[in-house]
Amino acid sequence: MYKLSSEHIRQRLLLSMLIIIVSLLFLSVPLIVSSYQIYQKADRALTEISALRAVADLANKISRERAPANNVMSSNADEFAANKQKLQSYRQEVDAQIEQTIRILNKAGFPVQAQQLSSQLIVSLQQGRQAVDAYAALNRSERHSSQLDHAIKQMFGAWDSCRFILKNVLEHSEGKGTDVSEYYTLILILADLRDQAGRVASNIMAAVAFNEKIPEDNLARSLQTQHQAKYLWGVVNTIQPEQGKTPEYLALHEQVKTQFLDKGIPTVTALINQSLHDQAYSLTGTQLTGVMVDKFATVVNLQTYILDYSVRVAQSEKRQAQQQFILTLMVALICLITAIFTMIYARNGVIKPLIKARNAILSLAQHQVAEYGPLSDDPETLMGAIKKLKQVLKQRDALEFQLRNVANTDNLTGVSNRLALDEYIQYVEKKPEGFTQTGLIIFDIDDFKQVNDSFGHIVGDEVIRLVAEKLQFNVRTSDLLVRYGGDEFLVLIDDVNSQDALVVANKILQDIGRSDFYIAEINENIQISVSAGVAIGAASWMGLLEKADRSLFQAKENGKNKVAG
Ligand code: GH3
Ligand code: MG
Repeated sequence: MYKLSSEHIRQRLLLSMLIIIVSLLFLSVPLIVSSYQIYQKADRALTEISALRAVADLANKISRERAPANNVMSSNADEFAANKQKLQSYRQEVDAQIEQTIRILNKAGFPVQAQQLSSQLIVSLQQGRQAVDAYAALNRSERHSSQLDHAIKQMFGAWDSCRFILKNVLEHSEGKGTDVSEYYTLILILADLRDQAGRVASNIMAAVAFNEKIPEDNLARSLQTQHQAKYLWGVVNTIQPEQGKTPEYLALHEQVKTQFLDKGIPTVTALINQSLHDQAYSLTGTQLTGVMVDKFATVVNLQTYILDYSVRVAQSEKRQAQQQFILTLMVALICLITAIFTMIYARNGVIKPLIKARNAILSLAQHQVAEYGPLSDDPETLMGAIKKLKQVLKQRDALEFQLRNVANTDNLTGVSNRLALDEYIQYVEKKPEGFTQTGLIIFDIDDFKQVNDSFGHIVGDEVIRLVAEKLQFNVRTSDLLVRYGGDEFLVLIDDVNSQDALVVANKILQDIGRSDFYIAEINENIQISVSAGVAIGAASWMGLLEKADRSLFQAKENGKNKVAG
């Protein structure tokens, strides 16, 4: 990051955010699509199960038409008209339900099956009805059991068409693979169970009604349907999913056994045995119908329960899939929106201010740098800009230091001047102890006027410079050496006692006194001496200066080349 320019940062941020967004899309789109597909499948399963239910309901409705048909066929002259009327109105109900089922099938995407319903089913139903009407139209004396049996079989033909359509719908279902699809087969099995159960008694009905021996064919069929019914009853429980085995289901399933299998079928078996042994039937045709209706109702109840239950399962599955889909969609959207907002925030809240700061620093650096020359490299990055500004400030500090030094230095000797002294005075005055601990020595060249007079001002200047050199050599860097006036120097020593100050002053005096000062201008060595006035501590600067001045005066009075204090 350190080496990256803002433009690079911006590009990389954009790229990484794009990667995040694309990754999110990669993760979320398949999730959304698959959850939508699951939802669609669940929706389809509900539509299909509703269509299956409609066909199964229609089969039941058609199956029940046999009751008013039987009533018409077995009624006496008094009841005939009323029964005929009842049959007529029931047939209208059946027709209406056929129309409704056709509509449902078309809507559910089963147009072929709807077509089969209006062609095959309606035709076979018409044939059955015609057989019933033809039988009913016969005089009692003209009626035979075979004609009745024929009418009953014809009515079953309509039911067979229904079963065919039911199977067809099932085969063309797309909702397989959902929890509901387990019920598809179950619905078909239950329809079969209901059909077989209905045929157990119907196969012997004509013979019993006419009190005749049951024909071999019918006998075989009845036994076969009994066996089928028992078998299918067992299959239902095998196919029924475990979670669907509610107490209600278990009770209904058990009732089919206790009522239909254990009581209904033995009734038929007894009649078959009576026929085989040429005994009189213990029941009439009407009584047989009456006994079997109740028992048969248990099969219808189980079927109705399973149909209702499967629709409920399909509905709840669809609801769950819908919720899952909405949740997936929402989470994916929230993630995407958050990513986009983060990107915008990072751009506006972080990157833009950073670029702004960089530009501000850069322009500051550029402004400063104008005075010192151009910037060496191109500082595009924020850190680069800061570095550049730091360099510029450093240069500035160095220059300021030089300027300060020039201002505070005596240009003849290079030691501090009165400007530097003033700063030092201000500094000490701010300290709580003030000048009470400060030592001050004033040095003054003896008879300097004579040097000037004898050798001229240039030599005089040279002497001042050489004396300053000696002084500089003999004081510590922490002491302040000031050229105070013409041939006068001050040495300020912080925190010093009188004895030490006198030692320093004497040392300097001896050093200068012993030295030969070579003057190039005249190519001669000359001897110089200085006098020194020492003062330690005073309430103020002026007080200290006066004290030292008095000492210097004393030293001069004492014959020069002396220290006093
Ligand atoms: P004393 O021993 O009493 O100090 O006698 P002196 O001759 O040194 O007298 P004083 O210190 O009063 O004289 C200083 C002289 O220094 C006066 C002035 O002409 C001379 N002077 C002052 N500034 C400069 C300078 O910058 N260069 C030169 N060459 N001479 C200077
Ligand atoms: Mg002098």
